[in-house]
Amino acid sequence: MGPWATIMANVMYKPGVDVPSAGIYRIEHNKHRLMHEATLDKGMLFPQCRTCGNSVTFTLVRAVMGEVLPFRPNAILVDYRQAELAYQATG
Ligand SMILES: [Zn+2]
Repeated sequence: MGPWATIMANVMYKPGVDVPSAGIYRIEHNKHRLMHEATLDKGMLFPQCRTCGNSVTFTLVRAVMGEVLPFRPNAILVDYRQAELAYQATG
């Protein structure tokens, strides 16, 4: 594996980027909230935070093989594509 395994484990992802693999991601916010975790599926886009928008970062904690529970927008996170549509609607 070499040094890549360590480097890849610490990659930080931004909202709107394709989720590279299904798994549990650690989500860190821009000060307003403690770090938490969410399960995201491969092929979706990393969601935005309702409060700090694109200031959240995602780090893969543990890859999940097979089925994962689908992400649902909630009180904290909003689907990236829905957020884009909302911005367009409001100009
Ligand atoms: Zn936030």
